[in-house]
Amino acid sequence: MGSESKTVHSPIVTYASMLSLLSLCPPFVILLWYTMVHADGSVLQTWDYMRQNGLQGFIDIWPKPTAIAWKIIACYGAFEAALQLWLPGKRVEGPISPAGNRPVYKANGVLSYVVTLVTYLGLWWFGIFNPTIVYDHLGEIFSALIFGSFVFCIFLYIKGQIAPSSTDSGSTGNIIIDFYWGMELYPRIGKNFDIKVFTNCRFGMMSWAVLAVTYCIKQYETYGKVSDSMLVNTALMLVYVTKFFWWEAGYWNTMDIAHDRAGFYICWGCLVWVPSIYTSPGMYLVNHPVTLGAQLALSILAAGVLCIYINYDCDRQRQEFRRTNGKCLVWGKAPSKILASYTTTTGETKTSLLLTSGWWGLARHFHYVPEILGAFFWTVPALFNHFLPYFYVIFLTILLLDRAKRDDDRCKSKYGKYWKLYCEKVPYRVVPGIY
Ligand code: NDP
Repeated sequence: MGSESKTVHSPIVTYASMLSLLSLCPPFVILLWYTMVHADGSVLQTWDYMRQNGLQGFIDIWPKPTAIAWKIIACYGAFEAALQLWLPGKRVEGPISPAGNRPVYKANGVLSYVVTLVTYLGLWWFGIFNPTIVYDHLGEIFSALIFGSFVFCIFLYIKGQIAPSSTDSGSTGNIIIDFYWGMELYPRIGKNFDIKVFTNCRFGMMSWAVLAVTYCIKQYETYGKVSDSMLVNTALMLVYVTKFFWWEAGYWNTMDIAHDRAGFYICWGCLVWVPSIYTSPGMYLVNHPVTLGAQLALSILAAGVLCIYINYDCDRQRQEFRRTNGKCLVWGKAPSKILASYTTTTGETKTSLLLTSGWWGLARHFHYVPEILGAFFWTVPALFNHFLPYFYVIFLTILLLDRAKRDDDRCKSKYGKYWKLYCEKVPYRVVPGIY
C-alpha cells in the first residue's frame, strides 16, 4: 500500500522548467503570432527576418500591450467571472482532496458557454462590436496577457501565503517552487468564486471557442466568404470545446484540478498558452483559405468528430465507473476491476476502484490517442504547405506522453502493489501494442 504522493517536483526540475517557461514561452507566443499573421505562416520567412534584424528586429515586432488590448481582456474576463458567479447551475461535489476536503462547485459551464457565444455573435450581428478588432489587436492582446498573467500569479502566491482558502495549501519552504507549482489546490475569492475554474475553464477554454469564431469571422470579412477548410477547423474546435463544457464537472476530477496547485505552471499556461497556441491552426487559416472540396472536408470533419467522441467516451467511462462504484456496464459487460487501497496525507486508509476493461483495458492512458488525433484532424485542413500549424499537435503529443508518465508515477506511489497489478493486466501506457 502506498501513500498519496505530494505533487511537488525536485527543485532542479522546477528551476529548469520555470526558466524555460519564463524565457522561451513568451517570445515563442509572439513569434508564432507574428509568423501566422505577418509572415504568411512561414517559419523560414520569420527566420530570415530575425537573421537580418537580430535582437532589435525582435524587439520591434513585439507589440506593446495597448489600452484597447487591456480593455478587451478586462471586459472579457469580467463578463466570464460574472457568468461563473451568477448563472444558475447544479451543485456538484469534487473528489476528496489529500487533506480530506471536498470542494463544491456550481456546474454552469454549458450555460456560460452558450451565453458567451450568443453574446459575441449577437454583438457582431447587430454591429455593436466587430470581432475582427480582436484579430487586428491579437499581438497586443497576447502581449498584455503575458505580463498580466505573470502579475496574477504573484497575486496567487501572496494569497496562498497570507489568506489560503482551505487546508489544501502550504509552503514547501522554497519561494520559487511555491510560486511555480502554486500554494493552494483550491484557491477561492470569497466562498464561491473558484479561481482555477476561472483560469482553466472560463478564461482559458472559453477563449479557445471565442477565438475560433473570431478567426472565422475575420476570414469572412476579408474574403467575403469562409473557406471549407476554415469551416472544418472551426467546427471541430467548437465540437471539442462544447464537449469540454458538457463534461466540465468531470474535468474537476482530473489531475489539473484535483492534483496540480494553482501556480505559475498551470495558471499562466491556461491564461496565455491556451488562447495563443491551442487556437493557432485557426489563426493560420485566416490568411490561407484552402479549398478542400466537399468530400474531403466532410471526411476530415467526420474523422475529427469520431476522435473527439472517443476521447469523451473514455473520460465518461472512467467517471461513470467510479460514480457507480463499478456497478455499471462497460462495453455491454460487467467491468473488470482492481480494488486499490492507499493512505492519505492525514494517515487514513481509503480505497479506489481501477477499471481494467473497456477503453481503460486497452492502455493505461489510451484516452490521449483520440485527443491527439482530434487535434490532427482540425489542423489538417491547412494541408502541408507550412509546418507551423502542426506545432500544437506536436506540442500536445509531447505534453501528453509526459503527462502519462507523470500520472503513472503518481499512481504508482499512491497505490503501490495495486498499480503494479494494473500494469501487469494492462501493460501499455498509451498506444496498445506499441508504448
Ligand atoms: P484523468 O485525471 O482524467 O485520469 C487520470 C486519473 O484517473 C489518475 O490520476 C487516477 O486518479 C485515475 N485513474 C487512472 N487509471 C484509472 C483506471 N484504470 N480506472 C479508474 N481511474 C483511473 O486524466 P487527464 O487529466 O490527463 O485527462 C482528462 C482529459 O483531459 C482527457 O480527455 C485528456 O485527453 C484531456 N487533456 C487535454 C489536454 C490538452 O492540453 N488538450 C491536457 C491534459 C488532458 P485517482 O487518483 O483518482 O485514482
